Amino acid sequence: SQSSQSAQRGQTLLLDGITQRYGNTLAVDDVTLDIKGGELVALLGPSGCGKTTLLRIIAGFMAQTKGHVIVGGEAIDGLPPNRRSVGIVFQNYALFPHMTVAENVAYGLDARGVDRATQRSEAQRMLDLVKLGHLGDRMPRQLSGGQQQRVALARALAVNPSILLLDEPFAALDKNLRLDMQIEVKRIQRLSGITTILVTHDQEEALSMADRVAVLSQGRLEQFSPPTEIYDAPDSLFVNTFVGSANLLSGVLLDADRSGGTVRLDAGGTIETRAPKGEVRPGGRVTVCLRPEHLRVDQAAAGADTLNGVVEMGLPLGATIVHEVRIADGSAVKVSEPRIDRAALFAPGTPVRLAPVAPRLASVFAAA
Ligand code: ATP
Repeated sequence: SQSSQSAQRGQTLLLDGITQRYGNTLAVDDVTLDIKGGELVALLGPSGCGKTTLLRIIAGFMAQTKGHVIVGGEAIDGLPPNRRSVGIVFQNYALFPHMTVAENVAYGLDARGVDRATQRSEAQRMLDLVKLGHLGDRMPRQLSGGQQQRVALARALAVNPSILLLDEPFAALDKNLRLDMQIEVKRIQRLSGITTILVTHDQEEALSMADRVAVLSQGRLEQFSPPTEIYDAPDSLFVNTFVGSANLLSGVLLDADRSGGTVRLDAGGTIETRAPKGEVRPGGRVTVCLRPEHLRVDQAAAGADTLNGVVEMGLPLGATIVHEVRIADGSAVKVSEPRIDRAALFAPGTPVRLAPVAPRLASVFAAA
C-alpha cells in the first residue's frame, strides 16, 4: 500500500559538519542539517553560496573535505554515486534522446538487472504517477518542457531511492508551468513520502514547497526553519532581506526583553518590535526591518508609532496597492496594502501618515 511505501522511503538524512574547500575557496563551511524522514527541505541562497556543492556531496559526485553524510543512521561517505540510494533531477532534465520515454524511466532498473516485464510495469506505474501514462512510446523531443521534467522525475523515482535531490528543477520552465509543476512535484513527494532536497535560488519556490528551508550565505548556514518562521522571524538581517522585501530603518533600541523591543526611529516616532536578534543592548544602534505589508497609509493615525511622509509614487499591482513614501530621515519606504482595503491611490506629493498594521511585526538587528 501507499502508506507502507512511505514508511520505507522516509529515510532520515544528516549532514554532519560538512565542509568543502576548493583550493583557497571555502565553498561550504561546517554545515549541519538534521533532516527528517519524508521531509522536503529547500537549500536557498544567492549564487555561489554552496547549494550545488552540498548537493554534489550528498549524491557522491565529490568527497567532502570534512564531515559526514548519514542516511538512515548510516554514514555513506566514500560510497560511489551508483551505490548511494539517491535519485536526482537536474534543471536540464538530461533525458536520453535516443530512448523512448518508457525506456528512459526504466533505465535505472535495467542497469540494476531487473527483468524486462518488471521494468515495463514499474515504468508504467511511475509514468502514471506523474500523469504521463499515455506517452510512454514517445521520444523525449516530442514532449513539452514540463512533460520532459515529469519524465525526469519518474526516472529518478523508478529505482525507489531513499533520497531525492532536485537541482533547480523548474528554472527552465515558464512562470505558469513552473507553478503547476511545483504543485505537482509537491503532490508526488507527499504521496511517495520520499526525503527530498530541493536546491533553488527562488525564495517563493522555497517557501511554498518546503517543510523547512535552509538559508545559506557564503557557505554558512544562516537559518534552518519552517517557511513561516524564515519569513516572519528571520534570525539575521541577511535572511530578512534575502527572503521577501524589507524596509530598513535606523534607530536606537530603548528597551527589550524576550517578548519584544521598543526602538526610537531616526525618522521620528517609536515602534514596538519583535525581540532583537544578536548582541544589542538598550542605547545601541539598530536596524529595524519592516515589510511593506506591515505598514498602512492612515491619514487619521496619531500614535507614537506614526511616521510622517510624502508620497513619491502609487502602484496598483492587481490584488495589492503599493505606495512609495519618502519619510523624514530621507529614506523611501514601501507600503503594500490589499486593494480591497485601499480603494484609492494617493497622488505623488500627498503628505501622508504611516502606521504599523499591528505591534511587534518588525524585526530588529544590531546595526551593521
Ligand atoms: P549557483 O546558484 O550559482 O549554482 P551555488 O550556491 O550552487 O551557486 P556552488 O556552485 O556550490 O554555489 O559554489 C560555491 C562556491 O564554490 C562558489 O564560490 C564557487 O565559485 C566555488 N566553486 C564551485 N565549484 C568549484 C570548483 N570546481 N573549483 C573551484 N571553486 C568552485
